[in-house]
Amino acid sequence: MGRRSEPRVDLERLIAKRSRAINASGIRQVFELGARLKDPINLSIGQPDFPVPEPVKQAAIRAIESNHNGYTLTQGITALRRRIAADLADDLGWPADSGEPDSEIDIIVTSGTSGALHIAMLALLDAGDELIIPDPYFVAYPYMATLCGARAVRCDTYPDFRMTARRLEPLISPRTKAVLMNSPANPSGVVLTGAECREIAGLCARRGVLLISDEIYDRFCFEDGRENVAPPGAGPKLRCPSPCRGDGAWNHTLLIRGFGKTYGCTGWRLGYIAGPRRLIDEMTKMQQYSFVCAPAPMQHAAIAAFDCDMSQQIATYQRRRDNVLARLSPLARIEKPGGAFYAFMEVPSRLGLTGAQFATKAVEHGLLLIPGGVFSDRDTHLRLSFAAPDQTIERGLQVLERLLP
Ligand code: PMP
Repeated sequence: MGRRSEPRVDLERLIAKRSRAINASGIRQVFELGARLKDPINLSIGQPDFPVPEPVKQAAIRAIESNHNGYTLTQGITALRRRIAADLADDLGWPADSGEPDSEIDIIVTSGTSGALHIAMLALLDAGDELIIPDPYFVAYPYMATLCGARAVRCDTYPDFRMTARRLEPLISPRTKAVLMNSPANPSGVVLTGAECREIAGLCARRGVLLISDEIYDRFCFEDGRENVAPPGAGPKLRCPSPCRGDGAWNHTLLIRGFGKTYGCTGWRLGYIAGPRRLIDEMTKMQQYSFVCAPAPMQHAAIAAFDCDMSQQIATYQRRRDNVLARLSPLARIEKPGGAFYAFMEVPSRLGLTGAQFATKAVEHGLLLIPGGVFSDRDTHLRLSFAAPDQTIERGLQVLERLLP
């Protein structure tokens, strides 16, 4: 008996233009290359190399064993939202009752920072709208706009990677809905100063556009990137600069932060958005009909995460940053990363190579880096991640010293 023939479906006809418009991420192409190498020197990784702190692991295990495995409220469990509110009050000076029913601010726990960005875009962008993003950018930013039929307008930040108000202002048009900023930045690690953040927030407020601040790397802010936010006369309180800090900032900014990078649990898919209640209400609807809620046991574990001191881990990353900078800056131009765990190195013009060509040469020596064209309209740089063990970084630096005569 032959196999019964099924009706033929023309799969190509079925695929949406929106999906066709997306290229598989260049980062994934590097991962696939890496999978074929025997013992790659992997400096392409975008997640911390330290384990989840033990108390946070234990809290996750306890949550699962205590049967916190079902759906939660769309906006997240109350205990976590209150813990986030307390942190925002301490760090940014927001009202302590953020997220409570009578507060003008609301908080929604999301499926990763990516989930936060997606529901924010879904709630804000219509076809034809514009979203201003930095160039270089986190790979997903342009597509987050195009998935909504909107346009991502690039703000060229070369060569110092500072998305300043001066660079932004000419890009704001009647179609601009929002500016998306990211400090500390992926891929450059650059941290804007408090003054730069306030200028951007002021510009956006004056021009009536929303400022969205992706602060996924806020805890990875090195000593030289921090600003003193203590009131005059009080002892120093050094924090990562943010446009969302200070009186009333919550009225015209949307703050997005995550847990994955800070506590080494990127696979747990946990982040949050905080900002004006009217907007969060709309985003909650988007979450209800997409992600539904953030993973329940991980929400319980995140409460414990706030009590973990990550300063040792951050100090390790700062030491690695110093080492990478000391070794490579005599050989190529690198803007000093004030945070995150990346260095964005220019391919010296004397080599006559694009970022992709240099990355291919590096692969021949077993070294995985991400070409700058993955994060940008130009392909002149390479992203090196120092979220890797010291020996791996050392091996990578030795290859780079050979490739950068
Ligand atoms: N924003 C930036 C700037 C990032 O670098 C990343 C992850 N690399 C994300 C958002 C997404 O993070 P998450 O894993 O929390 O979705």
